[in-house]
Formats: sequence, structure tokens, C-alpha cells
Amino acid sequence: MATTTSNIRSALPPSCAVSTPSSDDTVYTFLSKRWSTLGPSTLPAAAVVPSTEDDVVAIVQFAAANGLKVLPQCGACGGLVITTAKTLYVDMEKFREVDVDRDARTVTFGGGALAGDVQPAVTAKGFYTGWPNMGIVGMVGNVLGGGLNLFKPIKGLTCDNLISARFVTASGDIVEVSSESTGAEKQLFNLLKGAGAGFGVILSLTMRIYPTAELGLADGTGISEVMAMFAREDFDAAAKLWEMVSQSPSPMSVIFVFMAAPPNMSIAGQPVIMAQGMYPGPASEAQKAFAPFNAPGIKDRAIMVKPGTTQLETMNAQRDAMAKKGRNMDVYNGLVYNLSPETLLRAANKFAEFVDTHGAAVGRTNTGLHPMHPETLLRTGGAGEDSFMCHRDRNFNVQTAPWDLDDDFVPVAQQHGREMLELLRGEDRAKGIPNAILAGNARVETDMTEILSPEKLDILRKQKAEWDPKGVFWNAAVDGWAV
Ligand SMILES: Cc1cc2nc3c(=O)[nH]c(=O)nc-3n(C[C@H](O)[C@H](O)[C@H](O)COP(=O)(O)OP(=O)(O)OC[C@H]3O[C@@H](n4cnc5c(N)ncnc54)[C@H](O)[C@@H]3O)c2cc1C
Repeated sequence: MATTTSNIRSALPPSCAVSTPSSDDTVYTFLSKRWSTLGPSTLPAAAVVPSTEDDVVAIVQFAAANGLKVLPQCGACGGLVITTAKTLYVDMEKFREVDVDRDARTVTFGGGALAGDVQPAVTAKGFYTGWPNMGIVGMVGNVLGGGLNLFKPIKGLTCDNLISARFVTASGDIVEVSSESTGAEKQLFNLLKGAGAGFGVILSLTMRIYPTAELGLADGTGISEVMAMFAREDFDAAAKLWEMVSQSPSPMSVIFVFMAAPPNMSIAGQPVIMAQGMYPGPASEAQKAFAPFNAPGIKDRAIMVKPGTTQLETMNAQRDAMAKKGRNMDVYNGLVYNLSPETLLRAANKFAEFVDTHGAAVGRTNTGLHPMHPETLLRTGGAGEDSFMCHRDRNFNVQTAPWDLDDDFVPVAQQHGREMLELLRGEDRAKGIPNAILAGNARVETDMTEILSPEKLDILRKQKAEWDPKGVFWNAAVDGWAV
């Protein structure tokens, strides 16, 4: 029998909101919360919004009985997602409650909670933990994908702070897995840390939180930061700054971004490099870590070097103001060992040529280069922890994001994204180092062998066969990308 609104609705509890696409719908008018409108997805069979845990169980059982594949949604920002006519899309928007336990130093949040839900609740109680840099991003998708965050240099990836997960399995059972689990349940818990989408519908996650007071921030919650901006003729000075800060042993979080200068600058629309440092610790230590930004040959070559302070509670506010969903967005990401100042300079000049050729069409397309702090990541999720975020020894994350594009510019910007990634991976390639990528930053159609080692892929497939023998949940490593 064809899947219609009425037969799904009659099979599910009345507390489930069910919708099926109309003949006028495209994938992204129907799934209107999705961040990007690009990719090979086709319309799903239906979208369901459950209200209770029993609703989720009923949805999974209905999918299993009707040969559908369940695809849960938290923040709808994920790139490793594909929908087809067999997809039963489950929007977890009613599972956004957040519970902070001061004594246990944990936060538990629902399977639909966004960073914008968790961050204010945790900081209001005097704690912090890993979360993404924009409020619209889903916490569950972020944990499953690894999770870069400001506190990574001291506390590791967001997934490294996962304590337990409660979810509905393919058989419709509710299970809780944790770092204390053993056997197959421990394997499943490990999978959730960096590669776990496609094993169940997560009802809630519990993560470690840390007292903000321990950071010794200025005025208790002020995160010191510095931002320098370089015009095209001074890109070599930015490359020099990269040489000085990109392997800094301090917990400074650094990002260099190639972008078109924003409208409030006199060189609006011209290519610039913005270099930013943020320091999750005492202001006096921050000033030492930021010294290279003020060094001779750097400060005098920059358009500006601006110190500042961001309050922990509102650290995502500026980016949140620019958040936009439902447009042509894409990402070309990689984790690399080697990224010299010379390669940075070549990549920045390539970006500048892209701006020269295409002007305003480039919009907010940008490239970001970000040191990964491998020594911390190997400690927080390496040997003995069995996290599925595999490439912990890579020094840098690189990302080109063709962003908010007009339809006819999409192929041009995607080609630029591919070429930039090739260039930024060039030093590793010359040394025979294989491609690597963080699951959370991967785009649709990524080769899963770039995300997971052969051993981890093998474990994933065995666990998938054990926990989900009928393939009720879509998983890229098992189902592939064919629509
Ligand atoms: C604007 C923007 C900013 C970003 N910033 C950061 C950042 O600072 N740091 C970083 O590391 N990454 C960042 N990312 C990447 C982001 O972490 C990943 O794209 C992540 O997968 C998004 O999760 P989501 O819940 O929003 O997406 P979704 O598309 O809802 O989910 C992603 C995956 O998780 C699965 N999933 C979601 N909810 C559940 C559930 N309840 N149960 C089971 N499976 C579920 C989905 O099926 C899908 O496979 C950013 C992305 C965007 C678009």
C-alpha cells in the first residue's frame, strides 16, 4: 500500500503530527528547516513530529513494518544526510528540554535540543562544556559528528564529553548506553562519539559540564579575544602570523578566514584575511598568547588589530545574528597534517582571484583554517577511549563554504570549493598522506573511508548488522549515497 498521510496518521498515535509532500513541493519547501538546499535528496515519504517517547517507538515500529528508513532531525544543519521516497523523516523539535545537574556536573538534553537551548541553560548555572559556534546547530548532530568547539584545546571535542545516551533502537526498545556499558552496548556508545548517526532515535544525551570559575576568565565570564584583518597586499604578513600561532601550545583557539570584506569596511567586497584568536582562560595568559598579533611586521601591516572580550553566555550571539537556513550552502572540508604559510598564501591568493572574477556573486563564501590541538584530542578521545572520531592526530581543519549562493552561481562556487580543498590538501598529498575529514563537517556523498579507518568501518558495519539488521535507520556507510 502506498504511504499516504491518512494511513500513516491512522497507524501512529494522535500525538504525532504527520505530513506528506504535495505535488507542488520540492525537498526543501517540504523540509523547510534544513540548512542547505543542495544535494541529491528526493522527497521523503513523510515527515513526522513526535511528542512523546511512545510516539518515537511507534514511528520506528511503523517504519520497520513498512520498509521505510527513519531519518531523525535535530538542528537540520547536517551535511551527511540524504532523503528518498523511502525516508520517514522524524523532526525531534518537541524534545528540547535541558536539565543541568550542578552536583553531578552534567547536562541532559533532548534529542531535538539546539546549541541555542543548551548553552544559555548551562552558562546560567555557572558551567560550560563543548557546543558548536551557532545556536541553530543541533546538539545531537554535533556530538554524532565529533564537535569542534571553543574549549577543544582543554576539554576535547564535544563528543569526548558524552556520558550517556538514551534512545529507541530498531526493535523499538528504549536503551541507555554509557561509558560504563560493556560489550555491544559499549561499542554502540563509542559509535555515537563521532560516527553514530543511523543507530536509533536519540531521545536524550547527557554530557559533562565544568565550572566556569575554573577557567579564571576576566570578570568571571569574559573570554579574551583578538582579531586582525589583512588586505590583499599584506597577505604575506597574515601568512607570517599563521607561522607564529598555528602550532601554539597554548589553549588559544585560532581561525584564519579568507572572505570578502564586510559592507561596513572601506574596502567592502575586497578579499581579506581575518585572523582571530580566542582564549578560554585568564586575561593575563591570553595577552601572552596574543603577542604575535602585535609583533612588528604583523600589527603594522594589518588593517586593524582589535582586542576584545566576549561574554561566555553570549559567545555565539554575533554569529547567530547572521544565521540563515534554507539557501544554497555547501562545505568542502578536510583534516590535514601539513599547512605551511606558503600554502596559506597560495590559497589566499586563489580566493582573491575568485573574488576578482566573480565580484558580489561570491557573497559570504569563505575559507577557514583552524588548528586542531591534536595533543589534547589524542588524550581526550584516543587510545582506551575508542571514540569514532578517528583522525585525532591531524593538525588542522580546513573548510571552504560556498555560502548563501544565487542558483546560477552554485556550480561555480562548488568548483571553487573542490579546488580549494585540493590545494589545501596538497602538502599531505605530496607526502602520500590519505584524505581525512571530520564526520560533522562532511558533505553529502563523502567517501566514508575518509571519515573512518578501515577497522572502525568494519566495527560500524558489524554493529549495524547487530543492532539494526533490517536497516530501519539510514546510515551512509551501509546504505551508500544512491537515491
Ligand atoms: C551554520 C553551521 C554552524 C556549524 N558550526 C559548527 C561548529 O561550531 N562546530 C562543529 O563541530 N560543527 C559545526 N557545524 C557542523 C554541525 O555540527 C553538523 O552539521 C551537525 O551534523 C549538525 O547537527 P544538526 O543536529 O543540526 O543536524 P541534523 O541534520 O538534524 O542531524 C545531523 C545528523 O544527526 C542525526 N540526528 C539528528 N538528531 C538525531 C536524533 N535525535 N537521534 C538520532 N540521530 C539524530 C541526523 O539523522 C543526521 O544524520 C556547523 C554547521 C552549520 C550549518
